[in-house]
Amino acid sequence: MSHKIITWQCKKCNEIIQSDSREHHKMDFCKCGNIGVDLEEDYCRWSTNNQDDIIIIKESEVENMVEERYYKELPEALQPIVKEMCKRVKVPVTKINFTKPQWFMDYTWTAVQQEKFVNWLADWFYNLPVSKKRELNKNTNKTKKNAFKFAWAVVLNYGWKTKE
Ligand SMILES: [Zn+2]
Repeated sequence: MSHKIITWQCKKCNEIIQSDSREHHKMDFCKCGNIGVDLEEDYCRWSTNNQDDIIIIKESEVENMVEERYYKELPEALQPIVKEMCKRVKVPVTKINFTKPQWFMDYTWTAVQQEKFVNWLADWFYNLPVSKKRELNKNTNKTKKNAFKFAWAVVLNYGWKTKE
């Protein structure tokens, strides 16, 4: 399964838009309304009075094993954590099916990598505004101890497998 992504620009309003064929039955318009496009996997329909106003910046066909939407469907508060976790093992977030139970068992990191991540996460959580903290943890106290408690809980529940 593959999908198409076209990055295009309107010559009139200069707006740059990225259209994605996975967004079905949706027309993308530039802000001045001069150009619209309906991009699907098997066809692409432009709607404009002047074809010359369309600038195609980049066109690509992407083979994707796992849909990006799995990442986007994660609770927003969790996304930065998962993103960083993936970065640490050099796996794009789009490769992971987060709906699969135990998705975190598919990759490994060393105890040292794990500890570094805990430090990062504790720091990140420590500096988070209370409203954001509340979405992740009942205890919103701004103490280093609480931040580390949170970070370890996340890693022990959802961290990558550790290897020796
Ligand atoms: Zn326009």
